[in-house]
Amino acid sequence: MTAKLILGTEIREQILEEITAEVKAIKAKHGVVPGLVTILIGENPASMSYVTLKIQTAHRVGFTEVQDSQPVDISEADLLALIDKYNKDDSINGILVQLPLPKHINEKKVLNAIDPDKDVDGFHPVNVGRLMIGGSEVRFPPCTPAGIQEMIVRAGVETKGAEVVVVGRSNIVGKPIANMMLQKGAGANSTVTIVHTGTKNMDAHCKRADILIVAAGVPGLVKPEWIKPGACVIDVGVNRVGEKVSEKTGKKIAILKGDVDFDAAKEIAGSITPVPGGVGPMTITMLMKNTLKSLKFKLGIA
Ligand code: NAP
Repeated sequence: MTAKLILGTEIREQILEEITAEVKAIKAKHGVVPGLVTILIGENPASMSYVTLKIQTAHRVGFTEVQDSQPVDISEADLLALIDKYNKDDSINGILVQLPLPKHINEKKVLNAIDPDKDVDGFHPVNVGRLMIGGSEVRFPPCTPAGIQEMIVRAGVETKGAEVVVVGRSNIVGKPIANMMLQKGAGANSTVTIVHTGTKNMDAHCKRADILIVAAGVPGLVKPEWIKPGACVIDVGVNRVGEKVSEKTGKKIAILKGDVDFDAAKEIAGSITPVPGGVGPMTITMLMKNTLKSLKFKLGIA
């Protein structure tokens, strides 16, 4: 059996088109568009390319986008004042501080200074609490888990009553996706297990999974014999395992592998995400969805 591929590259295009149409409709009716500010400290090349991609995507869907670049030696107080300025700015619906921050700045203090109603990354403790409560309390599910759930739903995989096993318990992927899948409601209502480095017999847990979500950061951790035939396998892992020369650009690029032995797993699973091209493209997409949602909450139409 060869599994159906769940492609983030394709689902991203559908969602961005939906967002673009909704932005146009809101603009026509209410005369406003979502505003997203990205605060970048210093010139870390990886952070700069992430920010560029976020800004380009925001532009594509019709948002007002602001890129606020600050020097690497900005003081913590000045950064907090900047966040306060955007918290009070009515034209801004989403505030994003690109991580990592320089060592002299307390990351937690900075992220907690963002107005929870503009925290489109969904990392503020208020939004973590809202997610835990579930239902209408939820404002901004964190972007990677939100992308994972969206992929499962759009692939037509039944979640109600499904055994979901999540490998990894990080605050940005494992814990929130586990929490989202156990909520009572559409696209969830699953029976959820989280496994981690303290788990005994991890393979036995994985073998039970109708939906196996793997976010460990260990290349090839999940072996094909751990996969239940026909299961939906979502591989969140992005591991750089070497370099190659790009045929397109002639430049050196990273060779990426997921946490699942893809070639063997695709012969057993019912559906599976590849790496790259699976979960990866969904994170920025869901950031756009959260920013649109922020404006909709403000307008009372969410
Ligand atoms: P993280 O903070 O390092 O957490 C990894 C989790 O996996 C931890 O809970 C850890 O367990 C668990 N784990 C590690 N090795 C394990 C093993 N051998 N057996 C069982 N559990 C193990 O990582 P993360 O931020 O969640 O990211 C996970 C992966 O997803 C990374 O490859 C990352 O690059 C990728 N990622 C991709 C996207 C995207 O595509 N958009 C977004 C975010 C992350 P303990 O808690 O016991 O240490």
